[in-house]
Parts: sequence; structure tokens; C-alpha cells
Amino acid sequence: MKDKSRIERLIRPEIRALSAYHVPDPTGLIKLDAMENPYTWPEDVRRAWAEVVRAVELNRYPDPGARVVKARLREVLAVPADMELVLGNGSDELIQLICLALARPKAVVMAPTPTFVMYEMIATFAGMRFAGVPLGDDFALDEVAMLTALERERPAVVFLAYPNNPTGNLFDAAVIERLVRAAPGLVVVDEAYHAFAHASFMERLPEFDNLLVMRTLSKQGLAGLRLGLLAGAPTWLAQFDKVRLPYNLGSLTQASALFALQHIELMDTQTADVRVERERLYQALVALPGVRAWPSRANFILFRTEARAATDVFSALLKAGVLIKNLDRMIPGCLRVTIGTPEENCAFLNALKHAL
Ligand SMILES: *Cc1c(COP(=O)(O)O)cnc(C)c1O
Repeated sequence: MKDKSRIERLIRPEIRALSAYHVPDPTGLIKLDAMENPYTWPEDVRRAWAEVVRAVELNRYPDPGARVVKARLREVLAVPADMELVLGNGSDELIQLICLALARPKAVVMAPTPTFVMYEMIATFAGMRFAGVPLGDDFALDEVAMLTALERERPAVVFLAYPNNPTGNLFDAAVIERLVRAAPGLVVVDEAYHAFAHASFMERLPEFDNLLVMRTLSKQGLAGLRLGLLAGAPTWLAQFDKVRLPYNLGSLTQASALFALQHIELMDTQTADVRVERERLYQALVALPGVRAWPSRANFILFRTEARAATDVFSALLKAGVLIKNLDRMIPGCLRVTIGTPEENCAFLNALKHAL
């Protein structure tokens, strides 16, 4: 077919080789696959939010610098005074901005693996090479392997998810510090799960001139909003801001984010509930014969089913109406469950007991 050859001639081979990011249809299922906050807002808060959104003038372009949202985020997230922020349509967009700006021919993106798949995907989109460095025992950073890889690959940027997805653990902060000092390029500490871990490099930003910290509101209850932020030295962020599309955050997003940040205590209460459920679910999983679960500092738990193939367990759960994440191809034998409401977690545990 003519069109096929045209596709082969025009589309970059590394893009043709990719399969699109797969999101399963969750209709009718208990959704524990994507690290969403299971709680919504109470009705009175939703009404107040609707009033805020009603007042937005959609005929006008949004504030390209999202100044009001930024100012509020600086306070809420305790961004150090001399550090700058760039906001993105989710932190995924920020990863993309970083890669776009750094994508010289042969430039390398590095990350320990297994980790968040978007680092490698976006590196590929930007025409960069991805260098993954396997994690060590119990998914800790392999410091020697990382240092050797830094020397060999000279990466333009290293992404460290802190806590890591899909393993759920926090890397050793002292090892991260030594990697930042040894890195020839940038290091981005991705704190998407900060609300569940309470460990951060944010206040330490001024200590390093090649460190950036990334956060998102997604895992805290606003996944549908799409708001991520990158914090770091103004000299670095001014460069990344150049490749940001001017109106990347719409007026509805800006107004809703501001509203949400005025109700931060609501989100904090919900994340505290999720942390309590995380401990309960973890204890229940480790008590199950034939299951190995890893401790988590995030809002999900990684586990391995030793008595039955992970893919079979995944399918059995799906039949029982519970959607989790099958990681078998990334970490053999492993599955990942997001912490839901107490009722959802009970439904998951019951279905899992039957599936084993
Ligand atoms: C979910 C996740 C993100 C993506 O967050 P968005 O702001 O929703 O784009 C980034 N990093 C890690 C490690 C994640 O798990």
C-alpha cells in the first residue's frame, strides 16, 4: 500500500516501533490501577468550585505565566525563596519540556529501572537515547552501577522517582546526594508521591546547582486536572520555559487549581486516610500465603504472587470486577495495586484470596 510506504519513509523508526501508552477501559470496574486518590470532594465544596469555574472568562486566553497559581503553590509546597517554578499540564509535560530542551544529537536520559515508563517513552519521542540502570536488592539504588553508568553514558539528565514507581520504595537520600554531586548533567528528583512519603529534596535545592525537583497534584486527588510543577534555579528554569507552549495551562485548570489549593486541608485528610489504608492493606498482603509484598511509601503496593502466575491472577481479579496493574513484563511475577477506599480494598483482598 502506498500509505504504508509513506509512513515508513516519514515516521521515525523509533516511533513506529513504539506501542501507544495503553490505558484499559475501567467502566464498571473497581479501579485500582492508576494511583488515583479514591475520594472525591463533598457536595458543598463541589458547589463552591462550580461557582469559581462559572466566573472564568473563556473568551480570553489564560494567564500564560499562571502567576496566581504559582504564588499559591510556592507557599503550599514551601518552595525555597530563590528558586523558580515552571508549571506543566501534568508532570508528564515537564518531563517532555526537559527532554526537548536537552535533546542534542546523542544526548542520553538515564534512570534506574524498573521505574516510571514515561522517562524512556519521552526520551524516545525527543530523539534521545535512554540508558536504564538496574536497581539492586529490594529495588534500592545500586550506587556503584549508577556511578559507573554516569561515567560511561554522561547523561544530560537523570530521573529519580522518589518514591519510585512501580516499586514504592524511597531511595537512600545519601546515595541520591552522591549521585547528584557525581552527575555531569542535571538530576531531576520526581516527587509525584510526596504526599504519601513526606521525604523531599525541595528544601535542599539551593545546595546543588544541577538539581531540579518535580511534583504533581495528580496522586493527591487531582489527576483529572493535569497540573505538575518543576522547581529549581531560575537560570535552568528560564531555559525550559522557552520550550513550554505559552498557554499550556488553561483558564479552567488555573482556576480549579487555585480553588483546590485553598482547600488543601481536604486533600491532606484524604491522603492521610490513604496512608492508613496502605498499612492495613500491606499487613493483609504479607499475611497471605503465596504472596510477597514490598513495603511502600507511596499510594500503591507492589506484590508478587508465588503460587499462581501473575497474569492469571490479574485476569481472575478482572473477572471479579477489580482492575489493578499487571507488571509481569516489567518485573516478572509482579502486580501493583493502588490504595482505594476501605471498601474497595476489601473487595480487592477478597477477590485476590479467591484468585490465589
Ligand atoms: C504518575 C507519575 C507521574 C505523572 O504525573 P502527572 O502529573 O499525572 O503527569 C510522574 N512521575 C511519576 C513517578 C509518576 O508515578
